Amino acid sequence: MKLFDVYPLNNITITRAQGSYVWDKDGVQYLDMYGGHAVISIGHTHPHWVKRIETQLEAIAFYSNSIQIPLQQELADKLGMLSGKADYQLFLCNSGAEANENALKLASFHTGRKKIVAFSKSFHGRTSLAVAATDNPGIVAPVNETDNIIFLPFNDEAALQECFKNHGNEIAAVIIEGIQGVGGIVPASISFLQLIRSLCDASGAVYIADSVQCGYGRTGQFFAHDVAGVNADIYSMAKGMGNGFPIGGILIAPHIQPKHGMLGTTFGGNHLACVAALAVLEVMESEQLIEMAKQRGMYLMNQLKCIEGIENVRGRGLMIGFDVPERIKGLKKLLLEKYNIFTGEAKPNVIRLLPSLALTRKQADEFLEALTEAIAELENPPA
Ligand code: PLP
Repeated sequence: MKLFDVYPLNNITITRAQGSYVWDKDGVQYLDMYGGHAVISIGHTHPHWVKRIETQLEAIAFYSNSIQIPLQQELADKLGMLSGKADYQLFLCNSGAEANENALKLASFHTGRKKIVAFSKSFHGRTSLAVAATDNPGIVAPVNETDNIIFLPFNDEAALQECFKNHGNEIAAVIIEGIQGVGGIVPASISFLQLIRSLCDASGAVYIADSVQCGYGRTGQFFAHDVAGVNADIYSMAKGMGNGFPIGGILIAPHIQPKHGMLGTTFGGNHLACVAALAVLEVMESEQLIEMAKQRGMYLMNQLKCIEGIENVRGRGLMIGFDVPERIKGLKKLLLEKYNIFTGEAKPNVIRLLPSLALTRKQADEFLEALTEAIAELENPPA
């Protein structure tokens, strides 16, 4: 059977991983500045995470949500404590798209309204509502096309105000990434997030903070949205939550009370996923990884800003992007093929850095040195 190529980016096969390094089938070591697409939060195969999963696997891996799973409450308590959202309810699912799908559906149930405000260059996943709210017509199937999504320019306060003036009482939700990831590492401005909060308060719409990529401590705060000093009504989470074990979830503010049956799942919140997510939070706490991400991110950003050849260094914590000018457009490929460094990209010309929050200073320097050399090589190719 032919395998469908999901992201045919390169021919590398990874067979082993630890911390911020991975190794291919021939034993070649790579520095992972991509974090497996922002998923590796505490570092690949962290020993505490492995041990927790092994121990749980020997006891029970799965039983459905028809029974009590006390691990879910343990996870909710820890998450409430570390995120500062202890008064929210946690619903567990399996992925970022599913988290956003449930968030959007819940907002519509809660308000009885149909319209969703989303933004240019957004990415919210590939399920029906999530993809409809994603600004990429190429991945929206005809069946998912709907007039209920209103797309506005990102960070455009006047457009947002005008939209609420005209449609305020029809809007169920505003969904926004605190820092756009797929869109090229574009932070939402503080005043824009605050405006969303006040317009939602005035109109009764639900503020959904898509924190799938920019959440879970990556930006030096638990949620990137925290920078604005406002609380969203629903936070969607996935990626870093399980450090590679598939799990997602939404945090639901106390004034939103889903009725039984509105939210449900077969696999979500299973025993194994819960211990993986608990292990992540335990390590984040004991190794102070949110503060680490903040400090390491500041160091990386400051150093990157001094490197000539790249442009518009931006982001927060360990969610960093920069533009690659046309004359050095082979930079990502060269970093991978010659310097054995994985980075991410965003079209048309952005390199994304999404390493583990446990990236060391030495590893950051290893990357910076290779980057400087690679840029010099592209700017002055050997004759
Ligand atoms: N939301 C954001 C901001 C994302 O970056 C992604 C994935 O890249 C998703 C949602 C979808 O998550 P998943 O691929 O787990 O469905």
